[in-house]
Amino acid sequence: MSSPNTTPDVLIVGAGPTGLAAALFLADRGHRPRIVERALERSTHSKAFGVNARSLALLEASGVTERFLANGRRMTRLHLRRPGRVLATLRLDEVDHRYPFMLVQSQEDSERILEDALAERGVNVERGITAKDVETSAEGAVIEVEGPNGMERIAAPVVLASDGAGSTIRKALGIDFPGTAYDEPWRLIDAELDLSLDADLDPDAAQIFLVPEGGLFLVRHGGSLWRLLGNIPDLEALLPPGTKVGEVEWRSEFHIANRVADRFTKGAVHIAGDAAHVHAGIGARGMNLGIEDAHVFAALHDRGELDRYDALRRPVVNRVVGQITHAMAMPRPETWPGRTVRAAPWLVPLAFPLLRRKAQRWVIGLDHEVGV
Ligand SMILES: Cc1cc2nc3c(=O)[nH]c(=O)nc-3n(C[C@H](O)[C@H](O)[C@H](O)COP(=O)(O)OP(=O)(O)OC[C@H]3O[C@@H](n4cnc5c(N)ncnc54)[C@H](O)[C@@H]3O)c2cc1C
Repeated sequence: MSSPNTTPDVLIVGAGPTGLAAALFLADRGHRPRIVERALERSTHSKAFGVNARSLALLEASGVTERFLANGRRMTRLHLRRPGRVLATLRLDEVDHRYPFMLVQSQEDSERILEDALAERGVNVERGITAKDVETSAEGAVIEVEGPNGMERIAAPVVLASDGAGSTIRKALGIDFPGTAYDEPWRLIDAELDLSLDADLDPDAAQIFLVPEGGLFLVRHGGSLWRLLGNIPDLEALLPPGTKVGEVEWRSEFHIANRVADRFTKGAVHIAGDAAHVHAGIGARGMNLGIEDAHVFAALHDRGELDRYDALRRPVVNRVVGQITHAMAMPRPETWPGRTVRAAPWLVPLAFPLLRRKAQRWVIGLDHEVGV
């Protein structure tokens, strides 16, 4: 059981999906993690909406997968479209796996279910505690935090920094975060859509619309609430005729960067999730790769093999982020001929069964082995 007054065997900084999953995987292996979080409450905005087959498989033993499945919606196909017609459909339900789909569920729900499962194991997230600095030593690490009792120092033999893309710990350790930043703004709208006027929109599929100026990704959260995500100024303009936009729940604009930290371990401190890698939403990998990092971290810690963490995780993440960087060519605002050539590696697989199977497995995160 975690307690602020005892030395934890692992201190986790940040209770997003990565930190929560790491605490859960550790608790289920009989460890005593302590998890601190800056925010007083969970965010109600859902960034990640897709939980892939890999995450569902990794969370199975904890019982969390069962709860995710009871809560989320199964998305089994992906249409690649131009306005007015479907160019190709990728069927995820053809994949030979027990979870042949992407589970659509808000990140808020994913975090709530993970945090509840953790609390049932006697590990409570300590909120309102902000990590400010870190020192590593032969015995482990000391994290300087600011919380309700002012400044404190927490010593731990092992630290997992899952404190998000702006990671204080990564910066304090002087770990570089190289990569590519994209200039154009991306837009997100979570809105009610009324399809009752015979809109040409498959409510059970995700859709990618390509136009010369860019692209729009569209998926239904549940009920009549949809997510629109894209890099064109007016996302609503690409919706098929007959679609009426109702109440908007969330509207946001952001910039994308694909980055991977140049090391995932420094002394007794390991970094995971967005603290270690950020990338565009293509493939819905951010949270899912974080859950995978958490699994590998917990399994290696349990075996006393954390010295393998960087070597096991960084190549996998580098490969996936490289593929995403390549896929970014598809919706970026350049000319049609150029984009068609670059889109070929993504369209051609749809015509050839072996390549199609690879594409299907990639989309639900089954493109590589986890390694532990
Ligand atoms: C629009 C959008 C859509 C997305 N869709 C998907 C998707 O469908 N599937 C997917 O897998 N991913 C998706 N992602 C990415 C996903 O949201 C992130 O990859 C995921 O949240 C990363 O989880 P994390 O726990 O590593 O980091 P975070 O979620 O950022 O959590 C970090 C936590 O650390 C806390 N923290 C930060 N600094 C400190 C500090 N100094 N001290 C203490 N606590 C601190 C923060 O408050 C936060 O709670 C999407 C992202 C966006 C923006």
